[in-house]
Amino acid sequence: GQCVAVCPVGALYETDNTFKLVEDLMNPKKKVIVQVAPAVRVAIGELFGVAPGIDMTKKLTTALKRLGFDGVFDTNFAADVTIMEEATELKERILSSLKGEKDVKLPLFTSCCPAWVRFVELNYPEFRDNLSTTKSPQQIFGALAKEFWAKEKEIDKKDLVCVSIMPCTAKKYEASREEFVRDGVADVDYSITTRELGRLLKQYNINLLEMPEGEFDLPLGESTGAADIFGRTGGVLEAAARTLYEWISNGKLENLDFVPLRGFEEVRTAEIEVEGINLRVAVVHGLGAARKLLEEIKNGRGHFDAIEVMACKGGCVGGGGQPYHHGDFEIVKKRAEGLQVIDYHKELRESHENPCVIDLYETYLGEANGELAHKLLHTHYIDRKNK
Ligand code: SF4
Repeated sequence: GQCVAVCPVGALYETDNTFKLVEDLMNPKKKVIVQVAPAVRVAIGELFGVAPGIDMTKKLTTALKRLGFDGVFDTNFAADVTIMEEATELKERILSSLKGEKDVKLPLFTSCCPAWVRFVELNYPEFRDNLSTTKSPQQIFGALAKEFWAKEKEIDKKDLVCVSIMPCTAKKYEASREEFVRDGVADVDYSITTRELGRLLKQYNINLLEMPEGEFDLPLGESTGAADIFGRTGGVLEAAARTLYEWISNGKLENLDFVPLRGFEEVRTAEIEVEGINLRVAVVHGLGAARKLLEEIKNGRGHFDAIEVMACKGGCVGGGGQPYHHGDFEIVKKRAEGLQVIDYHKELRESHENPCVIDLYETYLGEANGELAHKLLHTHYIDRKNK
């Protein structure tokens, strides 16, 4: 790939993989598939003159097919799987703690954001075991593509190239972590940003606005509204709360909107009562605010069962790979609202109701957090300070 300096002193490099992608798309020996993160669909339109927050999903799927991908899939599918695993993990930790078991690591921290994960590994090793071991949606998608989808299609996973379109520059680093390589094959081969995809489409004279509407391919393209909100601050925890609530109560949740978890305050906290259990949860965006909260917890001043942390203000909609917003946070808010609208309009809004996810567990994975799920969908964390 080619390197583009993004740091004024040239100390940091952001790898641009679009050249590699073009090469792979032209290689007849390779099958190239793509996944698109939720935050991308409400921002890429800006590069073509559309207002922030407008959902470009349907035109985007067609544009990606025109680029020549062999499968156009949705990171959302993997986000629903993430909730199956992470909500199971949270439920198990909470029940163990209620039974009085010692050494249960609570609060559980979300682990979808690689910048946050790395921050904990480098600065707070004492909280490393609080990170959910569930992989991020990007990595879960890659693992399922290489193991499940490739097998179904009778493709040698070594000939399958899994590309992701991400709002994020840290996702490039995440894809390259050695924990995410199995049998010499990486879950995700490389990731490109929203901005890079916009540039590539323009180079190929693909005008997003003129594309007819299309759909994601199945089954890895099916998703619920819970997955869409992964792209905004508070969304992962809200998605987990919807599922966890129903699993613990064995009932149907009447109101799926956990309003106290929404909004853009740096730290939001809420109590969720289910079957006599009081869950204390918090949502944080920005690593400065996360550091403050971790210090409070260390000093015994904050007690939580689950905390969502996203490094970027606003969550992934405000990610470093998105169209530049030049400091105008209203743009980020509009994208977040756009994702909320998508969630409201989805027929299904809870991850555990995704029919293709249910089918995946029934026919392939077995139980959430079971043996195969653990092998493919979970990871571990290391002390990067002393590495
Ligand atoms: Fe990437 Fe920012 Fe999202 Fe973290 S919050 S995954 S750094 S875009």
